[in-house]
Amino acid sequence: MARLANKVLIITGAGNGMGKAMAIRFAQEGAKVLASDRDEAWINATVKEITDAGGTAVADVTDVSDEAAVKTLIHRAVKEFGRLDILVNNAGIPDNFKTVVTATDETWDRVLKINLYAPFWACREAVSIMNTQSSGGVILNVSSVGGLYGALGGAAYVASKHGVIGLTKNIAATYGVQGKVRANALAPGTIQTNIRAAITDPDPMGDQALRDAGGYSGPQGTGEDMANAALYLVSDEAKFVNGAVLVADGGWTAY
Ligand code: ADP
Repeated sequence: MARLANKVLIITGAGNGMGKAMAIRFAQEGAKVLASDRDEAWINATVKEITDAGGTAVADVTDVSDEAAVKTLIHRAVKEFGRLDILVNNAGIPDNFKTVVTATDETWDRVLKINLYAPFWACREAVSIMNTQSSGGVILNVSSVGGLYGALGGAAYVASKHGVIGLTKNIAATYGVQGKVRANALAPGTIQTNIRAAITDPDPMGDQALRDAGGYSGPQGTGEDMANAALYLVSDEAKFVNGAVLVADGGWTAY
């Protein structure tokens, strides 16, 4: 039996990296996936991979820094598939390890918009819809080990990812007791994806900076590793898991 049979699922940032791996994995498990990204070519490629393999997916191009567009995206699931069972807020950007002194207002605004405001906007719409459904719904917000520790990202990134965990726990506490909506966070460690390739600033950057910050020099995870962890959290196997943060970091933060 597929673990997400007939579940209607939205995932943001599904054009690349762990979001793409998650979308593919969720579809393999029977989910009807509304796969969204700001990059049209990337999201079309994700959806093609899913549909070529016999899965169900629809491509959506949304920049999650646009509140109105996020609202349209969430309601599109109901238009396309009649309901919304699972929302995965995965789209995110790094901040090049800017400190509180070197982070500009522009960095702060952009990182907070995409990493924290967007999940807030998406959850607002999704929880409203899920509350009207007898079966409720499930939220998964992708945070980071930078959402739990202070030095595993720059100031804006760490603040945004801590915020995501707070938002998640608040949703769990508010709606979980009603048995309507489960909300959990995933905290990936170092993953081989583009977000790392996008870290270009020579001002403390890259693997060495991460190791210096976290004291970790172990293996990196893959998108598939994250997809497997995410799959558990959004599936009914985790029906009693609510308000949790699942750290998937190869042992980095246990170091
Ligand atoms: P990771 O998988 O490590 O999070 P990637 O850069 O590989 O990093 O993937 C992030 C995904 O999120 C990309 O597909 C990117 O296009 C998407 N993304 C980034 N910013 C936005 C945004 N503002 N709106 C929608 N998608 C975004």
